[in-house]
Amino acid sequence: DELVSQIAAGEVVERPASVVRELVDNALDAGARQITVRLVAGGVRSIVVEDDGGGIAREDLPLALKRHATSKIASLAELESVATMGFRGEALAAIASVAEMTLTTRTAEMPHAWRLQARSGELAPAARGTGTTVEVNELFFSTPARRKFLKTDATEFAHALEAVRRHALARPDVGFAVWHEARLAAQWRAAAPAQRWADVLGADFIAASRGVQAERGPLALQGRAGQPEAARSRADLQYVFVNGRYVRDRLLAHAVRAAYEDQLHGSRQPAYLLFLQIAPELVDVNVHPTKIEVRFRDGRAVHQAVRAAVEDALAPTRA
Ligand code: ADP
Ligand code: MG
Repeated sequence: DELVSQIAAGEVVERPASVVRELVDNALDAGARQITVRLVAGGVRSIVVEDDGGGIAREDLPLALKRHATSKIASLAELESVATMGFRGEALAAIASVAEMTLTTRTAEMPHAWRLQARSGELAPAARGTGTTVEVNELFFSTPARRKFLKTDATEFAHALEAVRRHALARPDVGFAVWHEARLAAQWRAAAPAQRWADVLGADFIAASRGVQAERGPLALQGRAGQPEAARSRADLQYVFVNGRYVRDRLLAHAVRAAYEDQLHGSRQPAYLLFLQIAPELVDVNVHPTKIEVRFRDGRAVHQAVRAAVEDALAPTRA
């Protein structure tokens, strides 16, 4: 019912940036090559995410809004090897319970698009090419207590942009554009990884960092590690991705920190961008509704591998 779903929504949707993250996840899962995000008033008034992915078949549309309905895994066993960003089937339902949401979508087979209004269930013909547009208006309009916790539009926008930045780092092959009000705030064209990282994080970070590249059994690591002497410049630049998903993980952060320890002086924060690829059965991504936490089957092995790879990158003999 309404209350239960609003409470559940609280775990997934905290602010406009959470909506942006979930909608971009969905666009990527749908195979989008180009994703455009449009925000009004930091996303509180309106969030529109437009993709050129596969779209949703008309008969699947009502299902997309149902709680715990996902088209991405069919059994619990498949969760072991989940390759999509989504699998819990709760994002759209959660968002629809705390905002006005409409879905406009068209598959290659459909003669025209359909537009579904989540609240009323009203379905009407619409016009657009293959792909999906999700529009989310008036976030938390019916839960004023939650709305009160939102910060200024500028702050909410900064968080939302950061959410897209993380996707852009992980998916250099996809083009992204972010609009705020009538302004194009960011645009990243599809590019090779190194170029995308420079486009998103700045050429100065790339210049002041070294390449990380290592493979150890079921584990591969790549990215950039900021040189310790330059680390102070971007204390906030600490990105870790596990199988393409941005995560906050203490074990990984600790491993990196340990690698820097010898070469860090004072309280400098290392800056780094790391992509860890690991066999999916060795990591559990279903720890938290937002999937921002992971659990490794063999944490020690992961810690050692990451620490060694970053130490390698930082070793003074290397260019
Ligand atoms: P999940 O991503 O975990 O499956 P969501 O609630 O995020 O759950 O989405 C529900 C379903 O709606 C997805 O499984 C997918 O089938 C469909 N869907 C959502 N967004 C899109 C999109 N942009 N393009 C195509 N299908 C989508
Ligand atoms: Mg999803």
